[in-house]
Amino acid sequence: MASKKEEVRRKHIRLHMESTLTARDKVGVQDFVLLDAYTSESAFLDNLRKRFSENLIYTYIGTLLVSVNPYQELGIYTMSQMELYQGVNFFELPPHVYAIADNAYRMMCSELTNHFILISGESGAGKTEASKKILQYFAVTCPMTESLQIARDRLLLSNPVLEAFGNAKTLRNDNSSRFGKYMDIQFDYKGIPVGGHIISYLIEKSRVVYQNQGERNFHIFYQLLEGGEEELLAYLGLERDPQLYKYLSQGHCAKESSINDKNDWKTVSSAFSVIDFTEDDLENLFGILASVLHLGNVCFEENHQGCATIPDTHEIKWIAKLLGVHPSILLEALTHRKIEAKTEEVICPLTLELSVYARDAMAKSIYGRTFTWLVNKINSSLVNKDFTKKTVIGLLDIYGFEVFDKNDEECIRPGPATDLSFLEKLEEKVGQHAHFQTRKLAGPKGRKRIGWMEFRLSHYAGEVTYCTKGFLEKNNDLLYRHLKEVLCSSNNRILKECFLVAELENRRRPPTVGTQFKNSLSSLLEILISKEPSYIRCIKPNERKEPSKFDDLLIRHQIKYLGLMEHLRVRRAGFAHRRKYEHFLQRYKSLCPDTWPHWHGPPAEGVERLIQYIGYTPEEYKLGRTKIFIRFPRTLFATEDAFEFSKHQLVARIQATYKACLERRVYVRKRHAAITLEAHWRGALARKLAKRRKWAVWTVRKFIKGFINRNKPLCPDNEEFIVFVRKNYILNLRYHVPKNVLDKSWLRPPGILENASDLLRKMCTRNLVRKYCRGITAERKALMQQKVVTSELFRAKKEGYAEALNQPFANSRIDEGDINPKVLQLISSEKIQYGVPVIKYDRKGFRARERQFLLTQKAAYVVELAKIKQKIAYSALKGVSTSSLSDGILVIHVSPEDSKQKGDAVLQCEHIFEAITKLVMLVKRGNIVNVVQGSLRFYISPGKEGTIVFDTGPEEQIYKDKNGQLTVVSVRTTS
Ligand code: ADP
Ligand code: MG
Repeated sequence: MASKKEEVRRKHIRLHMESTLTARDKVGVQDFVLLDAYTSESAFLDNLRKRFSENLIYTYIGTLLVSVNPYQELGIYTMSQMELYQGVNFFELPPHVYAIADNAYRMMCSELTNHFILISGESGAGKTEASKKILQYFAVTCPMTESLQIARDRLLLSNPVLEAFGNAKTLRNDNSSRFGKYMDIQFDYKGIPVGGHIISYLIEKSRVVYQNQGERNFHIFYQLLEGGEEELLAYLGLERDPQLYKYLSQGHCAKESSINDKNDWKTVSSAFSVIDFTEDDLENLFGILASVLHLGNVCFEENHQGCATIPDTHEIKWIAKLLGVHPSILLEALTHRKIEAKTEEVICPLTLELSVYARDAMAKSIYGRTFTWLVNKINSSLVNKDFTKKTVIGLLDIYGFEVFDKNDEECIRPGPATDLSFLEKLEEKVGQHAHFQTRKLAGPKGRKRIGWMEFRLSHYAGEVTYCTKGFLEKNNDLLYRHLKEVLCSSNNRILKECFLVAELENRRRPPTVGTQFKNSLSSLLEILISKEPSYIRCIKPNERKEPSKFDDLLIRHQIKYLGLMEHLRVRRAGFAHRRKYEHFLQRYKSLCPDTWPHWHGPPAEGVERLIQYIGYTPEEYKLGRTKIFIRFPRTLFATEDAFEFSKHQLVARIQATYKACLERRVYVRKRHAAITLEAHWRGALARKLAKRRKWAVWTVRKFIKGFINRNKPLCPDNEEFIVFVRKNYILNLRYHVPKNVLDKSWLRPPGILENASDLLRKMCTRNLVRKYCRGITAERKALMQQKVVTSELFRAKKEGYAEALNQPFANSRIDEGDINPKVLQLISSEKIQYGVPVIKYDRKGFRARERQFLLTQKAAYVVELAKIKQKIAYSALKGVSTSSLSDGILVIHVSPEDSKQKGDAVLQCEHIFEAITKLVMLVKRGNIVNVVQGSLRFYISPGKEGTIVFDTGPEEQIYKDKNGQLTVVSVRTTS
């Protein structure tokens, strides 16, 4: 969007350039440097005239602008014109005051240097207009922020106020500036106008009290009378007619058609509010203006002693009221003078002439100082309060070169100051300056050209001679001490600031005009010397302010003393463009890789390298001591174009760098954040770990301590350890409790838990036993009881017991079906409890016979098939014997006395333990079983005994030995 607009603008400029090219062909040259006969003043004048007749009022001499006052509106100061000149190469467009302004502005922005634009020319030549146009140009084209708009408005509006108080109609100019003005416009680094400062020089005070024929006092007086509201005028004691006031009517032209005082009053009034004037300020200010007018109307008469008197005190009263002084004191001060004689003060009356002088001096003095106050007041509203670095463009509207009529005015000079003594002062103070010349200072050669009353300032292009005649008279405003005292006591707030009591105490003479002149000149020089200059030379085409009238003689004169021919000559001999090496290099260094981005050597060498690189031919330039001189504008344009082109690349590069920078910044920030996070996280982890380790060390140490002290009574040192050990043991024990009654394993307890362990073990066993017992059947219980009995009988007594232990007992070894029914019948009254097959050995021959051995409730039976061979009632049973060896022999002893019995029964039974146990349990008597060692004796029949011998051998044998004894051999069991 913006680039499109820019393109349209460029197109417009090109079109414009082409059209002006043809215009230029027709109407001379737009730059005098291009003039063929550049030494001819007539050719110069012709060119100026040709262009003026086409309303082309601007012409260049290189970069200097010559401007001829058109005395008419030309429509060349429009918005579109301002836009056109913005940021365009100086020579690309037709000459214009905007081009000068824009050039200075661009240079300021790009090189950050301070500039000033010096505008010179005769009164009425258009200097003030030019400076206003420049100010407007900046106000419109410079970038602006809303907050700084007020600064811009103040800069603009300070002008009408200053002009109202400092400008007046003269013969040459209806709006002639009667003071020198230097104005600084301050720009911030973005090129926004942010503030300003005004310095005024030597307001023409004499105009307050006297004007030539056809001239006026300062505008403000007429504006006040024309525009001021009725109440205001009444308050000030003024009438609406300027003719009534002596200070306004001497020139006989109070009303002037070209000036609209009423409108101007409106402009000025509204400006006052913008530049911070309060109601109070304005009241005091208008009071002073009115009292000046009243002063002018104070009339003196001479009494018979030749002393001045004031017959009508009407005016005095108004002045006293407005200035806040006592009327009689004022009256005395206007007609008398204090003379100090040693310790006394003597008051002596003034002559009429001196009274008039005193009155005028008072009017001039209060006006002059009020003007200074006004400038200061405006400055305080223009001040920019932030202290960032500013660059400035100064506008110097030079007030000088005035050609005065010799009868201007008379003035009475107290004291010995003369024009000649002023000249001497000048010689003394600035005589050293190379450009200052007087007759005295000039050598014998130059002397003739300078008059005694003249001094001469040499410009580079020519010399301007000033006549000192009347210099002092015009500016004489010495105020009698008496009057000064009155003003110092004033209640008017502005006068209070202007006339300080301290001044009265200072006995020295007030600074002379010469000193003031010198001071302001040197301070101005100081201001200018540090800045880059641009020049505008204004020419007045005729004396009658007429449009389109070109007065050859008048203009030729101005060309001469403005030094334009000399300037042209220098330009022609010289070059279209010159620039300090530093600045040239700074601007174009991007065009050459050697000088970009920095050149470290001397700037001159850098420039040389640069122009070689971009291909300047030798005739295009010259290298000076501090500057490069470029002969042709086109060379400069080409360079500028190249720069313009390279700017885009630079911008891209700067953008890239900047973006990279931003990205990097973001990256660095992120990285930093990540590192911080990481560090914190690691810290947290490490702290956690350290805490755990510490805890671990503490715990381990405590554990060890507890271990060391484990056997001591419970104390803090071992408490925890013991608790731990207990808990641990108990918890461990869970997995090691015996599973059944026979499991005798038990987890070994630590020393301190032995008692508890024992208790627990017992509990556990008891519990297991109970559980076991509960789970047992009646049948099994009976079996177990049998086994218990067996154990009581044979444990550790008879071999084979341990092996037999595991073999469960049977209820019976013979089914009832296997017993002969006859037998069953025989013992039917008794229930058979147990039966087992046995071998019975005859008591005499020891022959082995198979029998059934049956037990009932009451008796034991030895049965052979259907026959009961022997019945042994339990009551007759004496005992049972068996050997300690592993044989199955059992002998049932019966009482020998029992006649029913044949003798003891010798039996062999495979289930000996079972059989004997069953028998014993049925007999229900203890101690009937006898386990013998070696041999046993038994009754073969009552009274006759036999022996059975038990022995061990490699194999089982039972036989009758040669002694007639039964020998039983059994195999020794390993256990
Ligand atoms: P100076 O300040 O040099 O004494 P001014 O700038 O006050 O002169 O100009 C005097 C008059 O000439 C102005 O009041 C105005 O009427 C007229 N004038 C000056 N410059 C121009 C201009 N560029 N265009 C139109 N009129 C102008
Ligand atoms: Mg002026």
